[in-house]
Amino acid sequence: MEELKKKIREVPDFPKPGILFYDLTTLLKDRDGLRQIVEILSERYIQEGIDQVLGIESRGFIFAPAVALNIGAGFVPVRKPGKLPAETLSHSYELEYGQDTLEIHRDAVEPGQRILIVDDLIATGGTAAATAQMALNLGADIAEFAFMVELEFLNGREKLNGHEVFSILKY
Ligand code: AMP
Repeated sequence: MEELKKKIREVPDFPKPGILFYDLTTLLKDRDGLRQIVEILSERYIQEGIDQVLGIESRGFIFAPAVALNIGAGFVPVRKPGKLPAETLSHSYELEYGQDTLEIHRDAVEPGQRILIVDDLIATGGTAAATAQMALNLGADIAEFAFMVELEFLNGREKLNGHEVFSILKY
């Protein structure tokens, strides 16, 4: 895991002063790093009967389809507002300053389907919690949340109401 951590570039003061940004592009371009990440997740979920992998825009889109393919599940995009063309469900949530909204197609998940929710990183947990709310409103059964990176000091997993949370690298 320490080897994987070395492949992540840490950029201070991006996108604004005081934020240490975990830049996964340096891990993605590394063929061993990329394979390891996708393998860890695929091995963890291949026997779990997952129907759909939900990836959160934008960086969840990088990992979710790769894992979905490996475990024989479908891929569902959770998107920023106004991007999905058919009927959507949306959920707004509070940010440090202001509000954000995510959307999912109403027919993306069938009631009772078992889903995995994937994003690159969990910080405060607001993004993942909003996605969980929409998935639950569609009647999904949330198997687990999976992140490449967890910023443990922000306690994001506490926002996920007792759902299972897996993260590969913790800071
Ligand atoms: P949150 O809703 O606070 O858990 O924020 C999670 C989302 O913001 C994820 O989609 C991340 O890609 C992004 N994010 C938040 N903080 C960071 C950070 N320090 N480095 C990289 N991405 C971040």
